[in-house]
Amino acid sequence: AYQGPSRDQVLAMRHQYVNPGVLTYYRDPLMIVEGNMQYLWDETGKRYLDGFAGIVTVSVGHCHPHVAAAVKAQAGTLQHTTTIYLHPTIAQFAAKLASKMPENPNGDPLDKTYFTNSGSEANEVAVLMSREFTGNQDVVGLRNGYHGGTSVTMGLTSHGTWKFPTNQTAAITHSHAGYCYRCPYDLEYPSCGLKCAHDIKNVIEYQTNGQIACFIGEPVQGVGGAVVPPPEYFQIVYDIVRQHGGLCIADEVQGGFGRTGKHYWSHQNWGVQPDIVTMAKGIGNGAPLGAVTTTTDVSQTMTNRIHFNTYGGNPVSMASGLATMEVIDAEGIQENADVVGGLLKDGLLDLQSKHELIGDVRGLGLMLGVELVTDRVSKEPAKTAAADLMELTKERGLILGKGGLHGNTLRIKPPMCITKDDAQFMLATLDECLEIVSKNASN
Ligand code: PMP
Repeated sequence: AYQGPSRDQVLAMRHQYVNPGVLTYYRDPLMIVEGNMQYLWDETGKRYLDGFAGIVTVSVGHCHPHVAAAVKAQAGTLQHTTTIYLHPTIAQFAAKLASKMPENPNGDPLDKTYFTNSGSEANEVAVLMSREFTGNQDVVGLRNGYHGGTSVTMGLTSHGTWKFPTNQTAAITHSHAGYCYRCPYDLEYPSCGLKCAHDIKNVIEYQTNGQIACFIGEPVQGVGGAVVPPPEYFQIVYDIVRQHGGLCIADEVQGGFGRTGKHYWSHQNWGVQPDIVTMAKGIGNGAPLGAVTTTTDVSQTMTNRIHFNTYGGNPVSMASGLATMEVIDAEGIQENADVVGGLLKDGLLDLQSKHELIGDVRGLGLMLGVELVTDRVSKEPAKTAAADLMELTKERGLILGKGGLHGNTLRIKPPMCITKDDAQFMLATLDECLEIVSKNASN
């Protein structure tokens, strides 16, 4: 049993010593002290099904034995020297990543990786390379996107809630996401003609000098609430970006490593070929690890100056990443995301027909979103209902995430080892809690 300081002591210490900007979920913050595969335990020994995976990070299960053993072995042998010396793990892991990249039709494979410690840093490096490679400055992101909290990536992140006014960097613009439920033009797919995708041409022509460094987009928007665009959306966008001299960056921080079920990378759902792929979160099952993979030509730009990252490529993170990818292959993790994710989505659609609160159910594989609205016609975000629902499911042993501009979209992104029984428990718990929240709302 847990022997450490009490939850109240920890909370008091956090209040006193930790920057208040480090936020917690839940009205009464939850303390988690142990994890095993898809389950977590609090300090009282209460078990939770983890529907959020440490914010879409623990891809193959908490403390997965193969990953934990690899990390322990590496930590006990050599923890850190930096990349100024050779070590086998960085070479092996980079080779493994290259082996998973789709074949590049232009013949220049994506097989050169730069390692970082986070997704924000990975995206910073991707933008840096694009600017250096093209000689252009302007970067286009998508509305409702999330790419990080550093200067450039905070600029790229497109929710006002995450933007500090001091950190707005120049030469960043945003075009429309393929967010059909909240179509900016109030049109319907497919008669809309994908106006949202074509918007990027206007953005480039009106807001830049016509030549851009890159476009960055999440093939399925994560923080934005599992927003899945129409199938042709990214092809149209990538074509326009390339006509204006830009590179295409796929942010696979949430959607990569099999999470969307049918493909290893979420961009493969759209049949597009990025020039740069950025990764973090699920890449290392919880290790502080990010990566940027690109072609030989683009990677060459990093030699124009010295660029160094003290912990990037450190042996413990590399061991964790390599072991995670081995488990994804060995245990059919991607297929499980497809099968259990499909089952979950069907169940959520059933819940939608029963509960008025559910405005939209969307997502691919185990990257699912349930957008709650107070009214299906006006689509008013049901912010309080979403927060109440989170509290109720927590009481019943189910942890979920939320997202979207108004925090009214439930995010279901569990460790990808969850079972069909877990999915049934999730659906039953959601059904019960939706009933309670709906009753309270109508009182
Ligand atoms: N890109 C995406 C799509 C993300 O979801 C996140 C994190 N939520 C990031 C980048 C930034 O990653 P990090 O927090 O590791 O900097």
